[in-house]
Amino acid sequence: MARYIFVTGGVVSSLGKGLSSASLAYLLQSRGYKVRLRKLDPYLNVDPGTMSPFQHGEVFVTDDGAETDLDLGHYERFSGVTAKKTDNITTGKIYSDVLKKERKGEYLGKTVQVIPHITDRIKEFIKHDTSKEDFVICEIGGIVGDIESLPFIEAIRQFSNDIGKKNALFIHLTLVPYLKASDEIKTKPTQHSVKELRSIGVQPDIIICRSERPIPLEHRKKISLFCNVDIKNVIETVDVKTIYEAPISFAKEKLDVQVLNYFKLKSKKSNNLTPWKKITKITLNTKKHVNIAIIGKYVELKDAYKSLDEALTHGGIANNIKVNLVRIDSEKLKVSEIKSKLKNVSGILIPGGFGKRGTGGKIEAIKYSRINKIPFLGICYGMQMAIIEFARNQLKIKKATSSEFDKTGVHIIGLMNEWERGGKKIKGTDKDLGGTMRLGSYDAILKDKSKIKDIYKNRLIKERHRHRYEVNIAYKDKFEKKGLIFSGLSPNNKLPEIIELKNHPWFIGVQFHPEFKSRPLSPHPLFSSFIKAAKNHR
Ligand code: GLN
Repeated sequence: MARYIFVTGGVVSSLGKGLSSASLAYLLQSRGYKVRLRKLDPYLNVDPGTMSPFQHGEVFVTDDGAETDLDLGHYERFSGVTAKKTDNITTGKIYSDVLKKERKGEYLGKTVQVIPHITDRIKEFIKHDTSKEDFVICEIGGIVGDIESLPFIEAIRQFSNDIGKKNALFIHLTLVPYLKASDEIKTKPTQHSVKELRSIGVQPDIIICRSERPIPLEHRKKISLFCNVDIKNVIETVDVKTIYEAPISFAKEKLDVQVLNYFKLKSKKSNNLTPWKKITKITLNTKKHVNIAIIGKYVELKDAYKSLDEALTHGGIANNIKVNLVRIDSEKLKVSEIKSKLKNVSGILIPGGFGKRGTGGKIEAIKYSRINKIPFLGICYGMQMAIIEFARNQLKIKKATSSEFDKTGVHIIGLMNEWERGGKKIKGTDKDLGGTMRLGSYDAILKDKSKIKDIYKNRLIKERHRHRYEVNIAYKDKFEKKGLIFSGLSPNNKLPEIIELKNHPWFIGVQFHPEFKSRPLSPHPLFSSFIKAAKNHR
């Protein structure tokens, strides 16, 4: 049976529970154990798919087509374990499952209540589909003390009783602030947070203290005493310069050793930190840099393009160069400013997006990179915009557009059923929007002698999708005659997956999101190649 590790947070959010869980997963794996990671989110949305990136950051898409919390991205990147639909659940999903059952009369006339019905459903989620793992790490979103997270904490308390305390471990991550004015480190918030946790029946076994500076022994002793935790289990995590240092710093603090000790397990191997040391060194010591512009709608929120930022950094690691991200708000980008704003960039990236706002700036920037031969990568919406730009300016279809934001133009981009019959438009779109998203991993077949095939070195690739609109395949020949090649197609040849420009050093658009599959220890070839092209650009 798997052993369960529950990670809760206290004092403030954004302390890095996801990164801590992911680092612990890596360390346990490198000790020879099989690990799975899960996230329990206390909000009422059924999944984060409908949430704005401004609110919640990126929506991470899994191979099996789930729209999940961005922490699952950290999990995959650090542990290498492909996340599944069943690894992320929200309060909204729990309630909707319970209410569906209630409507069917499956509770046999009982009063349906938070305890036991909601908590039972949470426990089912924690446990199902996990037989072969040695450890399941479950991160509880939000912080202790939030009204929303109460049923989750109650459920993990019950769960630990159900499976026996020796099979469940509670880790609590808190903030240990440093007060500049009095030059002091404060343990009181941690004490209060643990008190709060204990008031709902959970005694942490390990406390991870996030701090700006190292925590002296006397303060650790205080935390140990007041929070009733073994001093060896008071683990500090001091701010790291790069996230790749996190596994190294947790290993130094013996987090993995303490976890194994708790479960009375032996280490099967010594942990391997070499790959993390190597990439930390590259990240911190590389002096040379390359500027890459990301032109999108959500650039102001750091987490909105989390996987993308990471994948670009990985591309930099592969090329021994630091990637400087120049974030440009597409809504504010004026045509007159394009030249000056893009003057010092060696690569232009247009990420995924939805809706009309900001499309004008994106299209102009694509034109600029096409004409000035600046390496360009268009992802999903970015590829669709590149198609529109080329159609308008090279194929001279002035009204070329996407039915996503213009119902009257020439729909080079649209819903499949808008042109299904012999390339002819057959019906309107509005009622078809719901449930028509193409989500998760799909195959694409790459064209021989194309740049993309050189990059992937494979004929068949599998990449993750999250879009509703497609490039209309009926225009393929017209584009190709003018030099824009459809170098990747869906296996049935109906859906353009990749475009690339002839006579350009590096101009590629992809209908999928390669960033979800890039990992620091194995950078995605598309990002490595893009950064290489940018590096060679000047
Ligand atoms: N809005 C576009 C579509 O739905 C692109 C989506 C995206 O970039 N993820 O097809």
